[in-house]
Order: sequence, then structure tokens, then C-alpha cells
Amino acid sequence: MLVKPIYKCLLCGQLLTTGKPQDVPREALPGLLGKVVQNQIFAGNPYLYQAPMHIPCKCKDGNAGMAYFAGFMQAEAQGQRGRLQP
Ligand SMILES: [Zn+2]
Repeated sequence: MLVKPIYKCLLCGQLLTTGKPQDVPREALPGLLGKVVQNQIFAGNPYLYQAPMHIPCKCKDGNAGMAYFAGFMQAEAQGQRGRLQP
């Protein structure tokens, strides 16, 4: 299934994503979550390469927030690719 890493900004609550959607077997997702949380993003696993633990958020009100990894969202369900916001 096609999934993308999702990040939630603690300051404004906005959901963000980064990188391209990755094709990951559904049964591999729980293990993948654990590996991201453990910060093993450079372990040579191509699924993890673009999933840092947090990314900066340009909040709509002009503030700068930090968005933390929240999980993987299906990318193919809504036919979306890439970012949730421009
Ligand atoms: Zn924000």
C-alpha cells in the first residue's frame, strides 16, 4: 500500500508530510513505526530514508512550530501525492 509519513505540528495542529509516498506492505507498517520512533532512519531501509522524527512547520498564523512524526497515512485512498499543503 502507498503510504506517506504524517507529522502533526504541536503549535498549530496542522498535519504535514514530507518526501514521496512509499509503497510499504501493510503488515510491515507497525514495525516501520517502531523503527522510525527509534530513529533508525539511516539503517539502510529505503522505507525509512525520508521519515525523520520531526520537521519544521510554517504555521498559518506566522509562527514557527515543530511537527512531530505521528504515523503513516494511506496516500492512495484520496489519490493524493506529496504534501498536504503547498
Ligand atoms: Zn504549525
